[in-house]
This record gives sequence, structure tokens and C-alpha cells, in this order.
Amino acid sequence: MKTLIIGEIINNNLSSGTLEILGKAKSLDLDVQVVTVGSDENPSIGLDLCKQTYLKRQNNSLNLSKAATKISEIIKNEEISLILGSSTYMCRDLISFLSVDLNSSPVSNVIDFDVASGNVSTVNSINGGESLYKTKINSGQALLLIRPKAFDPVEVNFNDDFETIDLDGSDLEVFDIFIEEKSGPQLEDSKVVISAGRGMVDKENLELIETLASKLNAAIGGTRAIVDAGWMPYSQQVGQTGKTVKPDVYIACGISGATQHQVGMKDSKFVIAINKDEEAPIFQLADLGIVGDTLSVIPKLNDNI
Ligand SMILES: Cc1cc2nc3c(=O)[nH]c(=O)nc-3n(C[C@H](O)[C@H](O)[C@H](O)COP(=O)(O)OP(=O)(O)OC[C@H]3O[C@@H](n4cnc5c(N)ncnc54)[C@H](O)[C@@H]3O)c2cc1C
Repeated sequence: MKTLIIGEIINNNLSSGTLEILGKAKSLDLDVQVVTVGSDENPSIGLDLCKQTYLKRQNNSLNLSKAATKISEIIKNEEISLILGSSTYMCRDLISFLSVDLNSSPVSNVIDFDVASGNVSTVNSINGGESLYKTKINSGQALLLIRPKAFDPVEVNFNDDFETIDLDGSDLEVFDIFIEEKSGPQLEDSKVVISAGRGMVDKENLELIETLASKLNAAIGGTRAIVDAGWMPYSQQVGQTGKTVKPDVYIACGISGATQHQVGMKDSKFVIAINKDEEAPIFQLADLGIVGDTLSVIPKLNDNI
């Protein structure tokens, strides 16, 4: 099936979400090409696996309608049947435009999909991951928004072999940009993630988590409860309305394990939970549970690692 992946760039490279979708498309042996939208000057995004087209927008404009028009043209000219994008702000906007152009309903929050006898079917996660539903798509083109970390990223060699199409003009002009400072391991890519919940008792005690994270080269996350309390920025929230992580080791410190939190971390390979309540739901998915006070357990870990 002819397939188009909407790619995104992070730090001059293709985002992990794009590579995860490419991995799944390749495993289904789809006839795939990537159209990447970005504003980086010289990104390294050519792919040895398939054709890459770069839709380059000016960095002070958000001309997504122009990008969507170009993508629609490619879809129609090349008779593409399946369009895939990661569930990010940009892809959600682009897929909305495309759904109007193609008169096709997008399917969001897709955690798996299959193509058999020319039909696309999907598995979707709803109610904070408590329920799954399946769809069969009957329209001419299928538009899917894929949840991050649903698939493993493909191993790929990058090159400079891609066509660049400059997008000019914009109906939305960006006049100010705030870029949040990032330091240390990032939540999306780190092999170890340590997350804090209300059971850390006080914002000051997050120092214990920072010490442990520096010893384990881990990224730090948190629950919505502590983000709402102002202990941590929203960019570190893990869960349904935050980030999805899939590290080798996830350490939940003073987290009850509400379904909305679990949906963002349940696919971690090994989960360690520290909670003083042995009935806390987080222990149902923990591989290793420590029933105890975070404020005495974590200092012991810090002293002994
Ligand atoms: C629409 C919607 C979306 C949401 N999205 C998210 C989301 O993206 N991410 C998210 O995390 N939540 C989300 N939530 C909120 C979620 O339902 C929970 O309220 C939240 O996850 C609870 O955070 P918590 O575990 O830190 O706090 P609590 O539920 O209060 O749990 C604190 C835990 O700490 C333990 N504890 C207390 N003191 C100690 C101590 N000294 N030592 C050890 N353990 C201790 C307690 O036993 C308890 O289990 C969402 C809710 C809604 C309705």
C-alpha cells in the first residue's frame, strides 16, 4: 500500500516519533515515503530506506496550511492511500487540514495498525488507556495519528539525498519564541526515568530525586498532581495529558499509580515503585515494589549507589 509519513525534525534530525512510525511501516512492507515539515537550515534527514521530501518553512512563520496543501498534492499525484503522523501538535494540525482536503476522518490515539487485503485497521487507546477499540477504515485514504512509543524506532542511515521545497508566505506569523532550557537526560530518550509524586511530601525533597537521577544518569518526570502544585514544569509531566515514556527502568517515587499516570509509563521495561501504602495501584504493575517512606528509602539509595 502506498504510504506517506509526515516527518518532524528535532535538533536537525528526524524525531523519534517519525522513526517509530517508519519502523512499523517497514515491518508491514508498505511502499513508504516521508515528507518532513520543518524550518532547520541544513537538516540531516535523507533516508537510505525510502524517499524523503523536505517542506521547509521560514522559521518566523507557521504556514501549516501551505504545508498541508503541498502534502495533499503529493497524496493525490502519487495516489497515496495511507497517511501516518505522530500525535504531536504539528501533525495533529496538518492531519486536520488533510482530513478536510481528502474528505476522510482521521483516527487518533492509534497504538497499533495493520493492512490486510488493501484495508487499514487500527487499535486505539481511550479512557486513559483503560479501554481499547478497533476501527476498520472505509474511506479512500486513511489518516492515522500514532501515539508516541507505540512502536520501536527503525535503525536508519541518514544522508543528504532529499528534495527541498521552500514554503513561502504565511497566514500566521510568529513574533516571539520562548524555548525552555533543557539540561541533562531528556524524558523521551532516557534509558532510566525517575518520577516523583505527591508522596515526596514537599517540593524541597525533589533534591533527593535529583541526586539519584545524577547517579543513574536518569531523566526526571512527575505526576500531574505535583505539576499542578508547581513543583515541576508541565514539560516533565508523565501520563495521559503529559509525555509517554518507555525507558528500560522507571522508578516511581511516592506515586499512587492512577490510570492517567500509568498510560504514560506502563510500557517501561522494568518498573520500580516506592510507596508507603502497600495497596497503592502502582504496585500492580511494578516489577519491584518497595513499601516504605520515600524520605527514608531514597537517601539510603543515594548513600549506596
Ligand atoms: C483528564 C485527566 C488527565 C490526567 N492526566 C494525568 C497525567 O498525564 N499524569 C498524571 O500523573 N496524572 C494525571 N491525572 C491525575 C491522576 O488522576 C492523579 O490524580 C495523579 O496521577 C496523582 O498523582 P500522585 O500519584 O502524585 O498523587 P496521589 O494520588 O495523591 O498519590 C500519592 C501517593 O504517595 C504515597 N505517599 C504519600 N506519602 C508518602 C511517603 N512519605 N512515602 C512514600 N509514599 C508516600 C501515597 O500512599 C499515595 O499512593 C489526570 C487526571 C485527569 C482527570
